[in-house]
Amino acid sequence: MAQEDGSDAYDVIVVGAGFGGLYALYKLREQGLRVRVLEAGAGVGGTWYWNRYPGARCDVPSVEYSYSFSRELEQEWNWTEVMAGQPEILSYLNHVADRFDLRRDIQLETRVAQARFDEADCCWFVLTTSGEELKARFCVMATGCLSAPNTPDIPGKADFAGAVYHTGAWPHEDVDFTGLRVGVVGTGSSGVQAIPVLAQSAAQLTVFQRTPNYTVPAGNRPLADADRDRAKAAYEIIRARERESYAGIIFGFGGHALVLPTERILETSPEQRRAALDEDAFGALRRYSDIQSDPRANELACEMYREMLRRIVDDPDVAERLSPRGYPLGCKRPVIDTDYLPTFNRENVTLVDLRRGEIERITPSGVQTAQGYFGLDVLIWATGFDAMTGTLLRIDVRGRRNLGLDRAWAEGPRSYLGLQTHGFPNFFTLTGPMSPSVLSNMVVSIEQHVDWIAGCIRYLDEHELATIEATAEAEAAWIEHVQKLAQGTMWVSPSCNSWYLGTNIPGKPRVFMPYVGGVGTYRKHCDRVAAQGYEGFVLG
Ligand code: NAP
Repeated sequence: MAQEDGSDAYDVIVVGAGFGGLYALYKLREQGLRVRVLEAGAGVGGTWYWNRYPGARCDVPSVEYSYSFSRELEQEWNWTEVMAGQPEILSYLNHVADRFDLRRDIQLETRVAQARFDEADCCWFVLTTSGEELKARFCVMATGCLSAPNTPDIPGKADFAGAVYHTGAWPHEDVDFTGLRVGVVGTGSSGVQAIPVLAQSAAQLTVFQRTPNYTVPAGNRPLADADRDRAKAAYEIIRARERESYAGIIFGFGGHALVLPTERILETSPEQRRAALDEDAFGALRRYSDIQSDPRANELACEMYREMLRRIVDDPDVAERLSPRGYPLGCKRPVIDTDYLPTFNRENVTLVDLRRGEIERITPSGVQTAQGYFGLDVLIWATGFDAMTGTLLRIDVRGRRNLGLDRAWAEGPRSYLGLQTHGFPNFFTLTGPMSPSVLSNMVVSIEQHVDWIAGCIRYLDEHELATIEATAEAEAAWIEHVQKLAQGTMWVSPSCNSWYLGTNIPGKPRVFMPYVGGVGTYRKHCDRVAAQGYEGFVLG
């Protein structure tokens, strides 16, 4: 497509129009660059466009899970709940798209099939599934970390005759479950949010649970006018502190005040731990500093969690089935819920603990497990995503000498700073593997990456340079640094399986993908690299 100046190339192609793609478009366009955003969905919003299952909600406080780049936007937008639900976040992102006139550069319903680097021309050719080819100097992959839905390969899954849904690709019209027998497979964040809502309308809800999760109530509530006003007045301080913080959050997950744990659980007696549960069942686990680093401390915390659960769930056998065992607290992504555990006290809810007999096959009318058959009208996969690498690898990305990203990442993702992979010049991964991304408030990390990439492109243009590429040495050193930081934590414990490690996808290499050093430290690394003339990159 010809540009206004007659050239047929863009400066930047951005793939994805979620939080990342929208801000990338705003920022890079402000810088005078010609930008085109390609988005597979029929609307903007990314994660919040696709994940519209009942109960979908963010677990980071909304005043923090929002853009900081515009003071006006911060002051205009009024969040109504402490942690906004999916519809409110989606309308925020649509407002942003309109407010900053972003839509004119976004091409919806456009899925990217291939991105290929042309060495002679020093540019990227991006091919869409409908056969359109676009050319740009830079590619920014704002494709999200949790955007490639995973439906497990269970025998007979295509045979089910009733309605089938995936939480990560939910229909856009309302789905009515009244009077139906609904089955949900999966009890991660999505399942845990959907289950209490589904239980209210389904005639019978059957939950197929492979691994019970450690989950605590979100304590969500309407955002009081006074609290909203206070946040608006303090935004400058809030944002500054988020940027220097560990997770890009200062109010804490679930809106709980962030308290620095000061006690050591190993130094407590059983009576003291019981008293802590009596005082504040859900806050109890947040007061100990040794849970993440010491397996014995962790097991005590796990037992506290199971005790808390037994106090809520009426039937002791159901409580036992819901009890996580054999893997540490803190290995998987924290799960925050609304009425999850009490839902299992309802008459119309059945919990199938797959540790007692796995799913053998899906039949046209239900699920056959080793512990019996469950008839269903509706089957919901709440089985997560091929996280962090899945969406990138579903695109045929080809760098120098036709190197495929799938080959470069055959033994796990390789990246310098989570921003670029050796062999793929001018190709940036927003919140990519080996950056804090999923361990942080995504919006804080997205803004940091976009600002860094925008600064990098400005630097190249000012110095009349055409390309930037991570060196193999810098990449290897960064990967080693990332892996070393994670050593000894519960995230990489041998008994841990999680999408952070890729172990939820059969055959995916077991590699811990996020950077655990915290967003503040990470930002300093990135700033230092830029200040030193993009150390670790070759500029050409
Ligand atoms: P998930 O955490 O990966 O959970 C998937 C669930 O499906 C797990 O319980 C998993 O069991 C189960 N499963 C997978 N394959 C299975 C199989 N073959 N048979 C039976 N069960 C199977 O995915 P998610 O719940 O969609 O959440 C993914 C991430 O998205 C979250 O961790 C979070 O980062 C984000 N998210 C956030 C929110 C929020 O802000 N509150 C809400 C939703 C999602 P195993 O544990 O045994 O693998």
